[in-house]
Amino acid sequence: MSITTGPVSDRPAIDREGLRRKYREERDKRLRPDGNEQYLQPTGRFAHLLEDPYTPRVEREPLTDEVTVAVIGGGFSGLVTGARLKQAGIDDVRIIEGGGDVGGAWYWNRYPGAMCDTAAMVYLPLLEETGHMPSHKYVFAPEIQEHARRIARTFGLYDNAVFSTQITRLEWDDGSSRWIIHTDRGDRMRARFVTMGTGPLHRPKLPGIPGIESFGGHCFHTSRWDYDYTGGDPSGAPMTNLAGKRVGIIGTGATAVQCIPYLGRDAGDLFVFQRTPSSIDVRNNHPIDADWFSSLEPGWQQRWLTNFATLQTGGFADEDLVKDGWTDISQRIRDRVIADLGAGAAFTPETMLRAYEDSDDEKMEEIRARVDAIVGDPATAEKLKPWYRQLCKRPCFHDEYLDTYNRPNVHLVDTDGKGVDRIDESGVWVGDTHVELDCIVFASGFEVGTPAARRSGFETYGRDGLSLSEHWEEGMQSLHGIHVHGFPNLFVVGPSQGSNLISNITQNLTEAGRTIATVIRHALDDSADEVETTEAAEQAWVELVETSERAFIGNPECTPGYYNNEGGPIGRKEKRNGSGYPDGPVAFWQFIDRWRSDGRFEGLEFRRR
Ligand code: NDP
Repeated sequence: MSITTGPVSDRPAIDREGLRRKYREERDKRLRPDGNEQYLQPTGRFAHLLEDPYTPRVEREPLTDEVTVAVIGGGFSGLVTGARLKQAGIDDVRIIEGGGDVGGAWYWNRYPGAMCDTAAMVYLPLLEETGHMPSHKYVFAPEIQEHARRIARTFGLYDNAVFSTQITRLEWDDGSSRWIIHTDRGDRMRARFVTMGTGPLHRPKLPGIPGIESFGGHCFHTSRWDYDYTGGDPSGAPMTNLAGKRVGIIGTGATAVQCIPYLGRDAGDLFVFQRTPSSIDVRNNHPIDADWFSSLEPGWQQRWLTNFATLQTGGFADEDLVKDGWTDISQRIRDRVIADLGAGAAFTPETMLRAYEDSDDEKMEEIRARVDAIVGDPATAEKLKPWYRQLCKRPCFHDEYLDTYNRPNVHLVDTDGKGVDRIDESGVWVGDTHVELDCIVFASGFEVGTPAARRSGFETYGRDGLSLSEHWEEGMQSLHGIHVHGFPNLFVVGPSQGSNLISNITQNLTEAGRTIATVIRHALDDSADEVETTEAAEQAWVELVETSERAFIGNPECTPGYYNNEGGPIGRKEKRNGSGYPDGPVAFWQFIDRWRSDGRFEGLEFRRR
């Protein structure tokens, strides 16, 4: 295989066939017939992985009162929706959250090194509204969690919130046009409107490795980091209790990439069990300059958001404000297309596809070359190289991860795509090799492809007792990813069937929050008891979404993972769940802005009793 890289003007000679063959070989090693079924729910010995180790549960009386809006989930979806509601003058808002505080993923994920891969200037919502300057281009989890708290404080969202409260059932009462919210606290709250932002990466999953229950040492999942066992804290303080310990980590996804440098620093010996290497691009983090930040004109964050989303989804802009790995690949594709058109090529889907493939091959070759440049041992370097397209898996950006393998106490145990064979009382087996361990850290990710009710821990029953799981049996059905027929006064907050911008999740949420607040404001002003999408509008929207070529999920040529249904078939259901507006996020936001502003709310019915 021969690949050379170089500027667009001297087009690289790429042995594309050879590269594709290698990609296919590596993917095939990883395909398994059990797909999503390979993972285990944390039950039995692992049931505690669903509990909250950070906040003690304090008993309280059950609530039976009524609020105007119940906001389910205190992560960024709930916070930005709550903020938009308050901005729209709707004060009677109650956040209901399973964790002991706001923050969602950033409440649960406190592993050392946790940070966001998307630049803070666009990832952290409502920066201008809360007056916060991010400390760095990419910020660590404690700062993100603190920002979540800042949003809650700024908009008075703590006032009526209930924490450490798990919803068990949500049901629509047609007689009173109210939602009844049952919880594990014995609550039976009532709400006129409900917003639901339960997030996709919420419920930890475990690798389905034979014998996992039999391990006699200590173990935990990265989303419930056990600092009592390891020592240290979320700010990255030394985990002194790991000195002299043999620690294993299973998984090398985005989470593992961030915590492995810390485990490598502190563990006596660290064994990294790898099934598929992640692609590790340059991070280049740096502090934000206060003078520069204060020179930004009001309205800057919206300009940055639009600029990032435009460039990241193949659009054109005069400058790249964020300048990161996400916009880099898009810029390369764009520059190639311009060069091709300049050289006389026609503007066709083939030209675009070729530009995409060439840019991706070039980028991945750079990423593989970076491994060679950093990792001293050539055999280890070879195993750390990713052989797939960059967006097949979550791209990672890190400047210390690869270097960690140069430590003498850090051992890469590559499983050649097969995964760990089994676990016994004293450690882990890969082939004929047994690795004795004191502790196993499961960096095995979260349930993504399973039904929403299983992930959120409760079922939602709409009109006539229809459950959301039944309504979505063949995949999500909605208008704009928010309104669901048969579920009046319910609003879903998430990227699917809407803007679907995966590189900056919070931007989807902030805009969805704005839409929801506008609709609820209108319903209240109109004295409408119910607002609901019509069946026809929902169906038309789903049909539109199904025409999208921009499905988040879906490339069967990719190495398996949750981006492509673990290599399983991509049917109608997966496509519906993973698709957005066919013309992309920026076009969606322009569309929804017009929809919100013209006052007609096409596709919705506002009803008085
Ligand atoms: P992932 O699902 O991405 O990774 C799970 C890891 O466990 C994979 O490496 C997987 O291998 C491995 N694994 C599973 N089963 C086995 C097995 N039997 N033997 C060996 N290895 C196994 O979870 P993460 O927690 O890393 O990340 C989840 C998501 O969270 C990310 O995709 C990202 O969206 C988000 N995230 C975002 C961050 C950010 O900066 N914004 C930071 C961290 C996470 P394989 O790849 O072969 O399946």
